[in-house]
Amino acid sequence: MITKPLFLYNTATRSKEQFTLPEGVPEVRLYACGPTVYHYAHIGNLRTYLFEDLLRRSLEYFGFKVRHVVNITDVGHLTSDEDEGEDKMEMGAERTGKSVWEVADFYTKRFQEDLKLLNVLTPTIWCKATDHIKEQIALIKKLEEKGYTYRTSDGIYFDSLKFPRYADFARIDINGLKSGARIDQGEKRFSTDFALWKFSPKDRKRAMEWDSPWGVGFPGWHVECSAMSMAHLGETLDIHCGGTDHIRVHHTNEIAQSECATGKQFARFWMHGEFLRESNLDKMSKSSGDFLTLEVLIKKGFDPIAYRLFSLTSHYRNYLNFSWEAMENAKISLTALRRRVEPFIGVDGEAKSVDAHEWSLKFREYIADDLNSSAALGVLNLMLADSSLENGEKAALIREFDSVLGLNLLKRVEMPKHSADEIAKVEAFIEERNAARVAKNWAESDRLRDVLLTLGVVIKDSKDGTSWEWK
Ligand code: AMP
Ligand code: ZN
Repeated sequence: MITKPLFLYNTATRSKEQFTLPEGVPEVRLYACGPTVYHYAHIGNLRTYLFEDLLRRSLEYFGFKVRHVVNITDVGHLTSDEDEGEDKMEMGAERTGKSVWEVADFYTKRFQEDLKLLNVLTPTIWCKATDHIKEQIALIKKLEEKGYTYRTSDGIYFDSLKFPRYADFARIDINGLKSGARIDQGEKRFSTDFALWKFSPKDRKRAMEWDSPWGVGFPGWHVECSAMSMAHLGETLDIHCGGTDHIRVHHTNEIAQSECATGKQFARFWMHGEFLRESNLDKMSKSSGDFLTLEVLIKKGFDPIAYRLFSLTSHYRNYLNFSWEAMENAKISLTALRRRVEPFIGVDGEAKSVDAHEWSLKFREYIADDLNSSAALGVLNLMLADSSLENGEKAALIREFDSVLGLNLLKRVEMPKHSADEIAKVEAFIEERNAARVAKNWAESDRLRDVLLTLGVVIKDSKDGTSWEWK
């Protein structure tokens, strides 16, 4: 079978590139920036981990072995990217009346439970920043020996202007920054310089602090990802990912310090998930403390997998707008999908016929195109409606597609009766379709027929009108 190779969008080159492994590298060295565990993960954060899970599953679908490393940021970093502000872990401890260590442990577990509920595959390695202080100090020492650091009264800083490619990754206008209005950068030599090690204040013991060759303190945030990814995956990664907010500062700084330390390319591919947006944007900020969690969705009666399905309906590089209406739609679609798949649970078989092969190829082609999950979902829906396939073939294709989509479709769940909401939704679509037919807008009418099909509805047009039934 000739199949399209996997193409992924690389932020570093701003283009889709074919993904292959270098000679002699047996598995994909994949690193994803993990959560700062001072609070619950919000559903925006979870969208990014769902994208990374789609990536991991897709790599495996294309035959790659994956070594997937995710870090837990349990060192208390400061609320701003500029190495200023309050310590997040200490904020979490104050808010909850627990110790920073208890806070870290509690939110780490809650985060891992969220991922399980979303059917996200467990990473090969979870690593904690506090378990890798030695590695972080070693990296800073290396940078110091090579002359990339300087000392101020509050820490050791990376001298970003000494790395000529510093601006390349995020396309930063360094000259503009040089000539622009001077912002308060304290003792930093240049605004893009960043802390590698911060000293503890002289008058106060911090909740988390360590000895170092420079004095008691704690590592800067960016250092942990470079040190841990290199410790678990080596000096060059195949793919490094995170949310788009990390491009400008966090990943730019990771590249600078890693490449200056090793003299090697740090990551071959950089992939970034776009943000989930809510009408009230503040609600998606973890430090504001007022945001939507998976637990809130569950309390409102949503299956976590409906949130997974919702996130798959848009491409990971597009903004996704959250609304309760969109969640209701996802819930209805998931129930419909489960109903349609139910007859194939426990059915054995292989996808051997030419038709079955074609469905598989179509699905693969969409995933190969930078993980086009919404189109791949469309293939699943249309395949289920293909009456030329045998049951065993359908079951095999569902298994195959779900290994990528991760909707756990072949797990038996109790199905609710069709709700009044569902029926109202179907009738609204039928009316819309009738209007399209009256206007002789056949393309729209066909589109609406496909939408109805994904809800598990089959329609019959006759001279007396349109009738429908659940499939
Ligand atoms: P944090 O715990 O704040 O370090 O964030 C964890 C992950 O969530 C990072 O990869 C962020 O880039 C990502 N992230 C933060 N906010 C959002 C959002 N609204 N939508 C999608 N991803 C986000
Ligand atoms: Zn990171």
